[in-house]
Amino acid sequence: MNRPAILLAFACSAAAQTPYELLLKGGHVIDPKNAVSGVMDVAVSGGKIARVAPNIPAREARTVADLSGLFVTPGLVDIHTHLYAGTGARALAGDQSVYPDGFSFRTGVTTMVDAGTSGWRNFPDFEQRVIARAKTRVLAFLNICGVGMAAQGEDNPEDMDAGEAVKMAKAHPGLVVGFKVAHYALPDFRDVERAVEAAGQTGLIVMVDFGTAQGPRNIANLLQEKLRPGDIYTHMYSGLRQELVNGAVNPAMIAARKRDVIFDLGHGGGSFFWNIAAPAFEQGFYPDSISTDLHADSMNTGMKDLPNVMSKVLSFGIPLERVIAMSTWNPAREIGHTELGNLDVGAEADIAVLALERGHFGFLDSAGARRPGDRKLTTETTIRKGAVVWDLNGRAAADWKSFPYKPPQPPR
Ligand SMILES: [Zn+2]
Repeated sequence: MNRPAILLAFACSAAAQTPYELLLKGGHVIDPKNAVSGVMDVAVSGGKIARVAPNIPAREARTVADLSGLFVTPGLVDIHTHLYAGTGARALAGDQSVYPDGFSFRTGVTTMVDAGTSGWRNFPDFEQRVIARAKTRVLAFLNICGVGMAAQGEDNPEDMDAGEAVKMAKAHPGLVVGFKVAHYALPDFRDVERAVEAAGQTGLIVMVDFGTAQGPRNIANLLQEKLRPGDIYTHMYSGLRQELVNGAVNPAMIAARKRDVIFDLGHGGGSFFWNIAAPAFEQGFYPDSISTDLHADSMNTGMKDLPNVMSKVLSFGIPLERVIAMSTWNPAREIGHTELGNLDVGAEADIAVLALERGHFGFLDSAGARRPGDRKLTTETTIRKGAVVWDLNGRAAADWKSFPYKPPQPPR
């Protein structure tokens, strides 16, 4: 045997012994797409999910993380965030946007969808400045308004051009998942109509932040006449557009749900109130998806992060498996990315490891009102494309006493 052959044989036998780079051991796996909920191991190799099964031997992996007592889920998918940071513009583009990697992984989120912070005019700048530089997977709804949420002009119908929006979306297939309208304050539906027009021409969806309801621009007309099955109504517990009528969930919302209009939580800084959410939950009107509406204000007030918002939903007695579905598989399907939000063998290994703490907790709404809870989800470890990108307690790390530190190098 010549020398390269010997080396190859050695490499093959080593690979046979440890086929997996990472083994997540002993956690309770919840994978709603595959109806999995139970203690199981997850093996990762080449950045992909390699195997999900009970009792995968530790010797088959180079790195083993003991996750007993924790929950292992697909990487969380947050479909309402604001990430167009660094523009210098006021409002959500610029000062209130956050850079994805500075927030995502520490909260278990591996996919963030920007909700229309940029529009068809400035999306290329957003793409180059933020999306292409992020380790987080960032997708986007294009604002139907060309300037997006940059400073003034988001409700200027003159800047809402379905044709230009379609062109930009078609130039970025997969990356642009739909069209967003937000903060519109005129008494008509030109924003929604143009977004639906663009969506119709691309096979994509519309996400609506309803802005101001007035005159004929009301929630019943929006849900009955404008939105199509698969379109998303975000901020569902805002109470700002008659989501509740005399304490009851607006019948227009119940009717819209029957024809598959999607209801998304979209917490934000001013869109989640206990006095709206509690009656809605009591009446069984739950979110299809849980999203944060992440921005610098919401993260520092009642919203905080996605696991915190998930904990609020959990506090209404919704089973954990369903809460996980609302934060993984459901949003992945809503945006047409069914390769995400699951732990299929062969899927990119985006994984969240969550702790379910028990104790006395308080959860704040957008008004600052407190509601107590006795369970709280927090993020222990996050894996993106097979790499550990957040590890609160070093569960995937070697002990310092056996760690292969490099010897100090003498100064040159
Ligand atoms: Zn928003």
